[in-house]
Parts: sequence; C-alpha cells; structure tokens
Amino acid sequence: MRHFTFKIGTILLVLAAAFVVMAVVLLDTPGRSRSKSVKLGRDDHEKTLSSTDTLHTAAFQVNSKSAFDVGDIAELNNLKLTSSMLSAASKRNAQLRYELNWMFGRKSQRGWYLYAPLINSLLHTEKDPLSTGFASSVASWQTTTGLTPSGVLDDESFYAMISYWQGRRLKDRSAAQPDQLLTAPISDFYDPTRDVELLRVERQTYAAYKRMVAAALADRSLGLARNPKGRKGELAATEKYLKIVSAYRTREYQEQLRREAPNSGSAGLAVNSPHFTGRALDLYVGGDPVDTLDSNRAFQVQTRVYKWLVRNAERFGFRPYFYEPWHWEYVGR
Ligand SMILES: [Zn+2]
Repeated sequence: MRHFTFKIGTILLVLAAAFVVMAVVLLDTPGRSRSKSVKLGRDDHEKTLSSTDTLHTAAFQVNSKSAFDVGDIAELNNLKLTSSMLSAASKRNAQLRYELNWMFGRKSQRGWYLYAPLINSLLHTEKDPLSTGFASSVASWQTTTGLTPSGVLDDESFYAMISYWQGRRLKDRSAAQPDQLLTAPISDFYDPTRDVELLRVERQTYAAYKRMVAAALADRSLGLARNPKGRKGELAATEKYLKIVSAYRTREYQEQLRREAPNSGSAGLAVNSPHFTGRALDLYVGGDPVDTLDSNRAFQVQTRVYKWLVRNAERFGFRPYFYEPWHWEYVGR
C-alpha cells in the first residue's frame, strides 16, 4: 500500500513538473513572436532606406533607439497606455489628421487623412482615426517599429509608415522587353479612344489584373456593372471603375509627358517611372482619374472601389503607391 502511494506521488510530481514546463513555454511564446515581428519591422526599414525611389523622403531617419534586445521588448510589451493617455492621444490625432505638416519630395503636405484607409490596413484595425482604439493600435505598431508608443500619429510615425509603404513597391525598375508585353483590348481601358500604342501591359500583370477585376465584380457590395455579353468577370463598357487609365509607357512617351507638364509633382512623371516596366497600372478609382489635388484624392480614397483595393489588391499581387490612389504596382505573390 505504501509502495502504491509512493508510486502515485511520483506520478503526480512528474505531471506537476510537466505542467510547469508547459506553462513556461506557453507564457514565453508571445514574447518570442513579438521579438520576431520587431526584427521584421527593422528589416523593412533597412530595405526601405536602400530604396532608390526618386520621390522617397530623404529626410526620414530610422529611429536609432531600435537596437533592442529581448529584455527591452519584454519591458515594452508591459508598457500599456492608460485610458487618459489614450484619450489625450486620440485628441491629438484628431488635430494632426488635418494639420500635420510633412514634406514629400520638395512639396509640403498637410495632414494624413488622405491615407486613412492605408493606415487602417497597416495597423490591422477598422477603428475610426479619432477613437482611442485607433490610438491604441498606433501605440502597438509604434512598439513593433521601435518608436516610442505614444498612440499619437505624429510626423515621426507617419514618415515611418511612408517608409514602409515605399519599401514594399516594385523593386526592379528595368524597362519591359517587347516580348514581355501584350496589347490589351481597348475595352479594358478608361478612354475608349486611347491610342493602340498605349494599350500594352506586362503579361503577368495583365493576368493578375483580370483576376482582380473578376473578384471585384463578384463582390456585389461594389455594385460594378458587368458586361452581359463578355466573358465572366468582364466590366461593362459603361463601367468606369477599375478600368485601366494608363499602363506601360515608353521612355519617349514619359519624356513627352514631362515636357507638357514640367511642374507636375505626379510620380507618373518621375524619371524612374515604374510604368516603363509594364507592371504599373493606373486604375480608375473615382473623381479626376490622375489628379493629385488633395480635394480630388480625398474623394477617391472614400470610394468603395478604392477601399476594396486597399483590402484586396495584395491577394492578386498588387501594392499601392500611397500618394496616388489610382497607381498600383504588380509585385507578384
Ligand atoms: Zn501611375
């Protein structure tokens, strides 16, 4: 009997030890995955900073405080903003949304409201930018990016976001070879009188574009008009949304555009335009198709189609150019 009791005691002891080990492993896991995401965040910055994009904000410097070790991260994870801090942060965000002064290239900019859909997507939140929930998401993101978790979307944080978006754009800007291009049917284009020379698109990009349009048509909430006679997933001739405004552009054509609008700040006119690659598409997302005026972009970023692109384009290999709601680049999947 005594021997039996001893045996049971041993089994219980072993089970208890196993439980403690499991508990330690489970508790430790979030810390580990968090430290991984911090490292990913930093890698993104490094990639971004080596980006050769001509419109890249040269002024942005990565916060040098990001030399973490695991101990620092554990400490940051414990740093929760109090509700009064979050409420103060959301008041500040309400102000900065329209008033933050920042530079893009040589152009001064005001506010970050035009980028709210992209910001929400980056923060993985649907919360209103004026809510404390949004401020809390900003703080979490700041933590993983190596910034001070204030919950305030200030210039430092906004430049870090721009850096992230720019770092995810098309890396290879070499011009498309003729055999990489196809001529898309005019029915895919916004302007039905567009010159045949301007209907070329890189092959993979075009296939991905067609898949994306079919998915958008299948989403009834967008209310896109389908071509009743065309193949499944084809936009109606009368439908403007998601039609291609501009695709592959030769260097010569690009030069001509620059001569015609020398003061345009549009990236479409940049020397190193991704449109040479045939992998950049300007898609109709509402308003004046490619006008960078704040009022025009404010309209565009509120359209259902633009918001749908922000949520879904990545699934088809397209990533946004944050400054131009119509400009999407095929980076593959
Ligand atoms: Zn473009």
